[in-house]
Amino acid sequence: MDALEALRAIVGEGHVLTGADAESALVDWRGRYHGRALALLRPESPDEVARLVRCCAQQRIGLVPQGGNTGLNGGATPDDSGKAIVVSLARMKAIRSVDVANDSIVVEAGCILQDVQRAAQAAGRLFALSLGSEGSCTIGGNLATNAGGTQVLRYGSMRELCLGLEVVTAQGEIWHGLRALRKDNTGYDLRDLFIGSEGTLGIITAATLKLFPLPAARMTALLALDSIEAAVAMLAQARAGFGASLTGFELISGDCLREVTQVFPQLQAPFAPETAALPWHVLIEVSDSESEQHARERFERVLGTATEKRLIHDAAIATSIAHSQALWHLRESIPLAEKSAGISIKHDISLPASVVADFVRDTGAALSAAFPGVRVVVFGHLGDGNLHYNVARGPLMDQASLLAHEAGINALVYERVHALGGSISAEHGIGQLKRELLPRYQDPVALDLMRTLKAALDPLGIMNPGKLLA
Ligand code: FAD
Ligand code: ZN
Repeated sequence: MDALEALRAIVGEGHVLTGADAESALVDWRGRYHGRALALLRPESPDEVARLVRCCAQQRIGLVPQGGNTGLNGGATPDDSGKAIVVSLARMKAIRSVDVANDSIVVEAGCILQDVQRAAQAAGRLFALSLGSEGSCTIGGNLATNAGGTQVLRYGSMRELCLGLEVVTAQGEIWHGLRALRKDNTGYDLRDLFIGSEGTLGIITAATLKLFPLPAARMTALLALDSIEAAVAMLAQARAGFGASLTGFELISGDCLREVTQVFPQLQAPFAPETAALPWHVLIEVSDSESEQHARERFERVLGTATEKRLIHDAAIATSIAHSQALWHLRESIPLAEKSAGISIKHDISLPASVVADFVRDTGAALSAAFPGVRVVVFGHLGDGNLHYNVARGPLMDQASLLAHEAGINALVYERVHALGGSISAEHGIGQLKRELLPRYQDPVALDLMRTLKAALDPLGIMNPGKLLA
């Protein structure tokens, strides 16, 4: 039996896609990576995934797990050898159970993030991961990249939100690790090993996730600020004023806000034009377990003090849920607005809050001096020290000239991040995009340990070949 025939026998003829039917799975969300594959397979159960892996191990066929294909580093795109299969988890999207008393939910890896949020809400609970791509990304992809998003400073990233995993190993065995415990010290933490491993150690088929009480009140505002220093100082002020209730603190540069309202004219900045033109904006959100009135009074008091201290220039406080959604829509539309302007050179970095302002000022100036004509697009989760520090072409530069400088731009940005004690990947992972850069910036002992783990867990090298480790 040839390889494709054997694979068809496992998942069924209709779930082995080739040619035009498989095409969209071979390109990443940004259109930066185009791969080839033997086929796109859509198994329907952990057992089918396990049989697929055993068959591929026998025939030395690589497997590229894929969820919503919204990843931003080419991790879910196969290489161009055409020898691997793409394994889509799209059919594995059951909500297996909700345990309200234990504040936990068990879901399959192909569940769309938004569907998990809705299932939690229907049970009167919150599932706290929130990303711009939540309408199409999956729990498996969120776990494999240890996704972050806009509520990390209150609830943690995907790692903190996961209690247990079910994983198909590179040997085609199923690890049943779905226990819903908040304490479990029984040896090495395999769950944390698979989270963030980008499909290079095994295929996640289900997860037990943590739920939280729904907040009683949510307050949102868009702040306009004169300087990046003021934005960082405002973060400290907000932490002191709101404590654990501070849920979101998103930075948006004036250029980003302008780009979003230009690309999507139906979206409006909630400010007079001269305020909207200020260089920095912050979308702040506070969730409270106390009453709406209490939340509003405290919100207005803290923002009022910040205005008196001249930390913020102006604040547009949302007065309704629709208004708050409109403010979030501005923030979440940035990646799409950016995409419409062409491919930019993206840097998903994190830094200690104490050095963010110096980094932004000095790096912006150094980039303009070294690469005249570039435009720096800065936004991100300032509350976590995580910036999306992207370098795009200005009006006088063409796409090819920008990409010709990619290596130089990366070196300039990452050397500064590294020198300041930051990370070259805060929440998107390594994938193909940063694979060659990792050895320069990761501790050599850590990198050696990672290679040892990879060789031990996947000795044939069939799990997402060519990703994360070069
Ligand atoms: P995919 O893109 O399909 O895969 C991503 C990686 O996970 C690949 O390496 C793949 O092989 C692996 N993988 C997928 N499923 C499995 C599985 N079941 N088992 C093992 N490995 C698997 N990310 C953030 O962290 N924060 C953000 O705020 C954020 N905002 C975004 C906004 C937009 C508009 C877009 C397009 C992306 C954004 N992302 C963000 C990036 C992306 O959405 C997340 O990384 C998301 O978690 C990827 O999920 P996915 O299902 O699309 O994974
Ligand atoms: Zn992000």
